[in-house]
Amino acid sequence: MDRSEVPMGDDTTIFGKILDGQIPCHRVYEDEHTLAFLDIFPLSPGHTLVIPKQRVAALHELSDESAAAIGRVLPRIARAILRATGATAYNVLQNNGAAAHQAVFHVHFHIIPRHGDAGLGLGWHPTALGAEAAAELRSRIADEIET
Ligand code: AMP
Repeated sequence: MDRSEVPMGDDTTIFGKILDGQIPCHRVYEDEHTLAFLDIFPLSPGHTLVIPKQRVAALHELSDESAAAIGRVLPRIARAILRATGATAYNVLQNNGAAAHQAVFHVHFHIIPRHGDAGLGLGWHPTALGAEAAAELRSRIADEIET
């Protein structure tokens, strides 16, 4: 199987099947709300996925409880990966939506230790933020934040 054959879906995603025990994974951590396991197509040795047990596709759909649980374990798992692999740098990548390169529609965080330049390539093409646009966007986003 190559990466293009990775199944998609919602509550029937490949990660849902891992949670249900229908397919195996290389588990590194599990608690009531989260599971972490090795990515089977790793970008580098130690590439790990951290998922909530809540079955939603995108980060913004997570409950506060799931979000808090993920936030609590991410640094802990990152520390373990650094110690276990000897890497000193890593990327945390979290894709939402096909246009953002999401292939499995169950929220997941990639922790990707860096061993030189191999594996993950990032295209980063910044533009300028004008004062007027900044003021308008800042206020539009701030007004939408749920408290
Ligand atoms: P994304 O593009 O962010 O949706 O990435 C999905 C990731 O899931 C890819 O890096 C895949 O290699 C990984 N993946 C797909 N199926 C499995 C599986 N059964 N076990 C572990 N990782 C998987």
